[in-house]
Amino acid sequence: MQIETDNEIFDLALEVISNEQLTPSINVIVLHAPEVASRFKAGQFMEIKVNDSLFPLLRRPFSIHRVVGEQIEIMSKVVGIGTRILYRVKAGETLQTLAPLGNSFGYDKDDFDLGILISGGIGVAPMAMLEETLRARGKDVLNIVGARTAEELVTRYLTNVHLATDDGTAGFKGNVVSLFSSILPSLKGKRLRVFACGPNPMLNALSKFCNAHEIPCEVSIESTMGCGIGICYGCPVRIKDANGKVHNKLLCQYGSVIDAREIVFEE
Ligand SMILES: Cc1cc2nc3c(=O)[nH]c(=O)nc-3n(C[C@H](O)[C@H](O)[C@H](O)COP(=O)(O)OP(=O)(O)OC[C@H]3O[C@@H](n4cnc5c(N)ncnc54)[C@H](O)[C@@H]3O)c2cc1C
Repeated sequence: MQIETDNEIFDLALEVISNEQLTPSINVIVLHAPEVASRFKAGQFMEIKVNDSLFPLLRRPFSIHRVVGEQIEIMSKVVGIGTRILYRVKAGETLQTLAPLGNSFGYDKDDFDLGILISGGIGVAPMAMLEETLRARGKDVLNIVGARTAEELVTRYLTNVHLATDDGTAGFKGNVVSLFSSILPSLKGKRLRVFACGPNPMLNALSKFCNAHEIPCEVSIESTMGCGIGICYGCPVRIKDANGKVHNKLLCQYGSVIDAREIVFEE
């Protein structure tokens, strides 16, 4: 069944074409989505009901990893009940989805020539589509991908990649903000814009770094999210306006991509 709302959100049962288990905890699901595939913009997400039963009841949010013709790809990391079910989903099954949701990364802005894509952990999921979108617009791309350890690094479809691991088992030993800081002097004279996705502590540190260096930066925020469409009020975030006044917003409505100068993180 297809329900189209004023905001053009579709409630669709999509067929699973394939499910590739990339690592012991990360998989990529390909869905046949002819009605919506071409509507997605880099940074948007969808809500997925992981099975037909009442448990788990709520859909889970997932970024769009790639769009290939009429197919969309989701990259999922196992953290709990829903993602554990998705890790084992089989070709031929259908998943109930709500999409497209959220805003997108600001790939169309004309204030930069080099997009710095910085991801931590499963925050790498939306970067493949973002890189493809930026390159199609003639932008240069540099990826900084971080994980706790080498086995957790995923760089699928990314080019010009600099790696960082907390334990030093691959690439730079340390976090992605330290790696970016070490690369930054070599980028002098280039017009940069940072696009980031990862754990909130990483995004907090990166936002502070970029704000201090006056580098435009937008971050895709992690939050638990109930409905994805502004009904359940389960994803509040704090946003600072130009006068420094802080307002409560819903991440699913205001984001999930937010300017680093606006977002107020919990310390
Ligand atoms: C806009 C958006 C896009 C996302 N994109 C992706 C993606 O592309 N790939 C991916 O693997 N994950 C993504 N996530 C996170 C994903 O939605 C959660 O990991 C998932 O909902 C967890 O469901 P679960 O049933 O497995 O975990 P649950 O059993 O519900 O919870 C297990 C644990 O995970 C924590 N948790 C649940 N949701 C989140 C969350 N959003 N952030 C941090 N911790 C959480 C819970 O507090 C709990 O401790 C995204 C989240 C948002 C908000």
